[in-house]
Amino acid sequence: MAVPDGFHPDVLAIAAHRDDVEQTCGGTLLRMAARGLRTAILDLTQGESGTRGSAEDRAREAEEAARILGVGWRQALAMPDGAVENTLANRLAIVRVLRLLRPRVVILPYGQARHPDHAIVATLGYEACFLSGLKKLPSGAASDGSSAAGSQSGSEPHRPFKIVYASLYADVRPSFVVDITPYIEQRHQALMAYRSQYANQSAGSGLFVPEEEIRERTFAEARHYGLLAGVRYGEPYVQKEVGLADDLTLLPVQSL
Ligand SMILES: [Zn+2]
Repeated sequence: MAVPDGFHPDVLAIAAHRDDVEQTCGGTLLRMAARGLRTAILDLTQGESGTRGSAEDRAREAEEAARILGVGWRQALAMPDGAVENTLANRLAIVRVLRLLRPRVVILPYGQARHPDHAIVATLGYEACFLSGLKKLPSGAASDGSSAAGSQSGSEPHRPFKIVYASLYADVRPSFVVDITPYIEQRHQALMAYRSQYANQSAGSGLFVPEEEIRERTFAEARHYGLLAGVRYGEPYVQKEVGLADDLTLLPVQSL
């Protein structure tokens, strides 16, 4: 797994499927990039079980979406699509990436989800973040046979400072919302880069939302969460920790 020399993202989004991140935290990644922060995406599967499109189609589309989102690095592991499990091998596969990239913040899917892969990634990702910090845990060789320890930094323990859960599709009150108002159109473009998934076609037409409705639905969800935080469009997150305040007069989001 190749990482540009010295590239250490401030924010790494981990998700089960290519196009998950675009739906749940793409606006946040755009906002972070606009602030000058480095962002990255790790997809855990290649999308071979999707009703529409091949894994190759989705690889191409994911690359295009990553370009639109302005992320500095995106790769997919090869966990089985539709059968992601929280195994030691899978935890270690993520540990290897965490030790290479050394992100400060990790975004994971929220643990309550319709798709079982999404729910599992919340736990799998959390446990990998924990294990990644253990000095005595060797992460071993990469699954593709190449050694992740080409550089010394690739094998050093690393624990992200913060984990947040993207909760867009969960029935849960978010801990906070990220204002994505200036980036909503660009986020939509990133999602629509997945032509094999979202362009109108006969395969899976009874299962998929028509293209013209995707915009309305995703904007409505963003508007809903934006309203909760007093902005136009937002993406919701849950954090397990409590918030910490310094100056009460600077607390955002108006009460009345
Ligand atoms: Zn998904």
